[in-house]
Amino acid sequence: MTEIIGVPTVGKEIDVKRFYIPGVTVRAECPECGAVHESDLGVDYLSYPELGKPEPVYFICEDGEDHYVEFDVEVIIGLTIVLARSDEETPLNPLGITHDLSGPR
Ligand SMILES: [Zn+2]
Repeated sequence: MTEIIGVPTVGKEIDVKRFYIPGVTVRAECPECGAVHESDLGVDYLSYPELGKPEPVYFICEDGEDHYVEFDVEVIIGLTIVLARSDEETPLNPLGITHDLSGPR
């Protein structure tokens, strides 16, 4: 039998200094002036993120002083056993997660 045992531990640090997520961009609007800021996580990165824990993302708005755009993201790891291979390209869901193994919160 081929199986996955256990779930990633919430709060466990991913020991990666530059954790890139190619293909994913986060975008947010400045609540003060409406300027749109975005960060391509294939270029920018999270540093030593903790599984299932809030990781702060923030932008400093260049249009004004004291304009900060701040929110959190969480890294959730997915793992799937591939039982049958196919040459057919199957698009992943937007986050590339095929099975949520984040465990209880
Ligand atoms: Zn602003």
